[in-house]
Amino acid sequence: MKYTTIIGLEVHIEPNTKSKMFCGCPQNHFGAKPNSQTCPICLGLPGALPIANKEAINKVIKLGLALGSTISAKSKFYRKHYFYPDLAKSFQTSQKDNPLCVGGSLLGKAINHIHLEEDAGKLIHQNNISLVDFNRCGCALIELVTAPVFHSTSEVLAFTKELQLIARYLDISGADMEKGTMRLEANISLLLLGSEPVTGSEPVMLPDYKVELKNINSFRFLEKAIEAEIKRQELELSQGRKIKQETRGYDENTKLTFSQRSKEDSQDYRYFPEPDIPPIEIQESRIQELESSLPELPQQKREGFEKQYNLSKEYIEILVSDLTRANYFEKACKLNKNYKLIADLMINKKLDEKYLEPAGLVKKIIELTKTDFIPASDVEQGIREVLSENPDVITSYKNGKGQVIGFLIGQVQKKLSGKGDPKLISAKLLEALHG
Ligand SMILES: [Zn+2]
Repeated sequence: MKYTTIIGLEVHIEPNTKSKMFCGCPQNHFGAKPNSQTCPICLGLPGALPIANKEAINKVIKLGLALGSTISAKSKFYRKHYFYPDLAKSFQTSQKDNPLCVGGSLLGKAINHIHLEEDAGKLIHQNNISLVDFNRCGCALIELVTAPVFHSTSEVLAFTKELQLIARYLDISGADMEKGTMRLEANISLLLLGSEPVTGSEPVMLPDYKVELKNINSFRFLEKAIEAEIKRQELELSQGRKIKQETRGYDENTKLTFSQRSKEDSQDYRYFPEPDIPPIEIQESRIQELESSLPELPQQKREGFEKQYNLSKEYIEILVSDLTRANYFEKACKLNKNYKLIADLMINKKLDEKYLEPAGLVKKIIELTKTDFIPASDVEQGIREVLSENPDVITSYKNGKGQVIGFLIGQVQKKLSGKGDPKLISAKLLEALHG
């Protein structure tokens, strides 16, 4: 039997704000001493009052604008209740019915919404004890939820890589999977091909189950984990078994997914509007201001590079996929018009690592193009021709008129269109005359 794969994504991005979502503690927690970045607000101590982080809100709006979302004029925070040891308040402040950004799309894939919430802390399991580090507790977190519109791993990869690039171009996050500043969850289910009509990219009717694949922390893992889960579901369905609604992880050693938590009953989080944070109102002028501050996005850069510098698609992709290199390339191109050579030296010789300033690379290019003389054999050929065309001059030279050597060098250079090394011409000419 043939199935079509249906995948929806939930992507979490930790923005690079100065402070956490609702307090003044630092947002950046990498390498910090455990529990050194906490306060009564992010620990949820009685009486502490949260204040929403304006910088985090602006960053979500920027992402929404870049992805064509509608920015909500009014937005709200909710309390989402559940217990977990690293969630100090026993509820997570998140958004529900009123997310900041609604709709939008990327690479033709529909986005449901993008909202803002806070992160939980981290549990560290050592030997037989579990430790909790609250440094990440209360950190700002952006969640982007797509429609169930992906049908293959390659579509998911392309989407997440482009989203990562956009977050970096917007300077809203490093969006680093290995560091956890970008995290991915995929909801996967299979639909019997032909059982339901598929219109556009979203099926009319979805399967009656979905398996949530969690803790995907690298692009390499993403591919393997999703492939493994699709295979598992195919096998289950083809043997007539029903697939359980659950959360699964991926084991790199067995290359299989494994059950983590059953999700047969949808959890009741007892959402209610957060009474300590007033609803957010976004003025039109603020949206316009943020929109006009948007930088050039990866796709615009690709198109610009193709038009302006006429590079191959492969070269463009390498340069555009790293904003620092793309900027370096552009700066170098402002100084020198050898666009292809600049790209060559950056991509194949990694000279942008050697010359930290584009001006250094350009200086090197000027040197290279200057000493780019034609081979010695061509010079010798040119000399032979000039000498055979000027027997009188040779006679003059042999009669002691040394100054005619300058005339001969000029004739050879003319023949070589100025591309001969003058030192080499002079040496070879003397050799020929005295030989
Ligand atoms: Zn705090």
